[in-house]
Amino acid sequence: MKRKIGLLYGGKSAEHKVSMQTALAVTKALNYDKFEIHPIYITEEGEWIKGAQLNAPAENVKALEFTSNTLPSPEFSPTVFKAEEGPLDVIFPLLHGPNGEDGTVQGMLELLNLPYVGNGVLASSAGMDKIIMKNIFAQAGLAQVNYLSFIRSEWDRDQDNAYDQVENDLGYPCFVKPANLGSSVGISKCSSRTELVEAFKEAFQFDRKIIIEQGVTAREIEIGVLGNDDAECSVAGEIVPKKDFYDYKAKYEDGDTGLVIPAEITTEQYETLKELAIKAYKALDCSGLVRADFFLTSDGKFLINEVNTMPGFTPFSMFPLMWKHTGVEYPQLIERLVDLAIERHKEKQ
Ligand code: ATP
Ligand code: MG
Ligand code: MG
Ligand code: MG
Repeated sequence: MKRKIGLLYGGKSAEHKVSMQTALAVTKALNYDKFEIHPIYITEEGEWIKGAQLNAPAENVKALEFTSNTLPSPEFSPTVFKAEEGPLDVIFPLLHGPNGEDGTVQGMLELLNLPYVGNGVLASSAGMDKIIMKNIFAQAGLAQVNYLSFIRSEWDRDQDNAYDQVENDLGYPCFVKPANLGSSVGISKCSSRTELVEAFKEAFQFDRKIIIEQGVTAREIEIGVLGNDDAECSVAGEIVPKKDFYDYKAKYEDGDTGLVIPAEITTEQYETLKELAIKAYKALDCSGLVRADFFLTSDGKFLINEVNTMPGFTPFSMFPLMWKHTGVEYPQLIERLVDLAIERHKEKQ
């Protein structure tokens, strides 16, 4: 029997386009002797559209972008998770950012009692909110940069006070980020008060909460974690941004950011990195997968930057590439994730 995968992608999120690319890559890589794909597209407006079953790879992104006037029912209904013969076997939420990577979709799938790939409700929501995530990491004793956070209403009441606090507690350079997002959307690096003012405005366009972090000069080292209770780590990778920092354009448009895999770090450093990544994985109660991102300072210290509970997942993204170098090819990685989803679901029953 073929396994029926409900591929959920697109999404009402600033990372919609990234998700489209990933969905295309997954439909191209899967072994159709073992799987059939049931595409479920969420438009940027948040409409849910179910496409026809795929028995062969989709050829381009357009083929996955159904429009509501070609299909009858664009509103959400749990029937999108059913095939003609019955429920789908597993849902693969290939969604990044809010309304997908943040526990909302995961909660819905829990209520529907469907197995799904990737992190559960708690890890997804805590991992999406950089403030909550960093508070949990601090509690777990993981080293990280100093940070402050503000909600929009606090800032509205006394903007100058917010900027003064950043300057006194953190200084420049600092990074201003929306609390709940990814792909560097809404993130600015600031070296002056003028830039800080602009950065606050920009970040508050995406979220009602923002985080400001001390800027560090460090190497950016990442590692993949895969598994449920007994998770394993991939080799490490290093990001070498050609620009000031690894912004949205560098990630998805320029394509000239250097990814060095495996990262050139010592065996001891790699052992430490693995320990820290597993500690972070457990602290957030992760399952399925995570890409854990660290800064490696010039004095050899790892600071955790974040975990991504649904990391970039095209065959050219860091997470799949790190696993490829560890011996797990892209199609096997997808199959492994599907197995882990079903395993976790069974354990809960
Ligand atoms: P994604 O989810 O795509 O990995 P993100 O939107 O969650 O990204 P971050 O990873 O927090 O954003 O930051 C994006 C990039 O900005 C980092 O990869 C790094 O280049 C730079 N950066 C972020 N925070 C800092 C910091 N405190 N000091 C130095 N550089 C930073
Ligand atoms: Mg992130
Ligand atoms: Mg992300
Ligand atoms: Mg990141």
